[in-house]
Amino acid sequence: MLVSHPVQEDVYKKQRETMVREQIAGRGVSDKAVLNAMRTVKRHMFVPPDLAAEAYNDSPLPIGHGQTISQPYIVAYMTQVIHPKPQMKVLEIGTGSGYQAAVLAEIVKEVYTIEIVPEHGKAAAERLKNLGYANVQVRIGDGYQGWEEHAPYDAIVVTAGAEAVPPPLVEQLKDGGKMVIPVGPQFAMQTLKLIEKKNGKVTTRNLMPVLFVPFTRSEKK
Ligand code: SAH
Repeated sequence: MLVSHPVQEDVYKKQRETMVREQIAGRGVSDKAVLNAMRTVKRHMFVPPDLAAEAYNDSPLPIGHGQTISQPYIVAYMTQVIHPKPQMKVLEIGTGSGYQAAVLAEIVKEVYTIEIVPEHGKAAAERLKNLGYANVQVRIGDGYQGWEEHAPYDAIVVTAGAEAVPPPLVEQLKDGGKMVIPVGPQFAMQTLKLIEKKNGKVTTRNLMPVLFVPFTRSEKK
């Protein structure tokens, strides 16, 4: 168990405040619940210990197995885009470190998150449990199929770059729900898209260019 010195915790708290002010609110994220969550979640606990001092920098960081924890601004932006509310049930694809799941869990009632790399899934589940996020459930598997058992979802947040929008995810979105997903070729710029379902009709809006690690598929047998 990582024990952090109280003085060090104060340093991180100040860094979080600066991060929110300069990188997040400073770039136009204004949802109070999102800003609060970003101020609360201890990002330094979600990065490898030797990178803790860089946890509040304006950049993504490597978390092992070729994966990354997204830049804080992108996490805040994607969270704001789904209009998170306390009663909501949200599905995330690509647990990674568990950071995005924790930010969501600060705001919404239930978070379901799926990770394809077992080591990441296990580590994230353990970390979220230790940090007291009892409203997050982690599953190891291919997120392409979503998580049928708990569907439909008020919102879906995909944090890996998909070549196309997986139809099962659109299926599992509630009417009136929103999905945010990076779509594009692997290892090239993708477009962050907002997909909305209203009266059974699905609309798509392009938000901004992004670069996420690839959305992989489990091997077909
Ligand atoms: N949200 C994470 C960062 C995600 S990086 C965080 O806050 O730290 C993208 C993650 O998506 C990686 O961990 C990768 O292994 C995972 N991933 C890629 N394809 C996937 C799939 N088909 N299903 C579930 N997870 C997937």
